[in-house]
Amino acid sequence: MDWRDLSLGAELGRALPVPLLVDNDLRSSTTAELLFGMGSDHDDFLVLGIGVVLERRVQRGANGFSGEFGHLPVDPAGPRCNCGNGGCLQALVGQTALLERARRAGVGLGSRDGLAELIDAAEGGERAVLTILEEAGELLGRSVAGVVNVLAIKAIKVIGESHVLWPFLGPAFTAAAVAETIEPLRDLEITVSPWRDTEHARGAACLLLARSEAITRP
Ligand SMILES: [Zn+2]
Repeated sequence: MDWRDLSLGAELGRALPVPLLVDNDLRSSTTAELLFGMGSDHDDFLVLGIGVVLERRVQRGANGFSGEFGHLPVDPAGPRCNCGNGGCLQALVGQTALLERARRAGVGLGSRDGLAELIDAAEGGERAVLTILEEAGELLGRSVAGVVNVLAIKAIKVIGESHVLWPFLGPAFTAAAVAETIEPLRDLEITVSPWRDTEHARGAACLLLARSEAITRP
């Protein structure tokens, strides 16, 4: 929306007669995972691509910017990212980047919903598309292994609108992530869950529930 320097929570708080919590949609889903998903088996896990849970706490970091995997600097010669830097992970393997690469490789994608056509091409076994997705999966896996090694994580959950590409990204992702993970962490658990728009609402509700210590620390 091109909003900058806007204190959204404070502004909404003035306009609405109820207490208010503001967070990123996927990070809110990480809270839902802590309460009702991954948190039942794990104290430390990642939710791709934004959530970091350590010792049963969803990490927020300075200004709430924790977990921005997409801006891992990967290739100094890579395409410009929407953050202004060059060669961030998401500028290489994000949905827009994948569609752009496919178009440059001569894959016929319509302008309206290129993603559906990309998936069709992959399902049809189109070699150029499969290679693009495999390379993206491998790069993503290598990058995430770096995060796993830094934070000592044993479990990753893949959620979000891009999970539809996972059948094509997943095998290369898993192989690279496991190969680049240090030995004590190598029994990494990777799970993928389908995304529904109701997940946004579930995440938002869980932000409130997580205020209760009784729920977050059983
Ligand atoms: Zn970036």
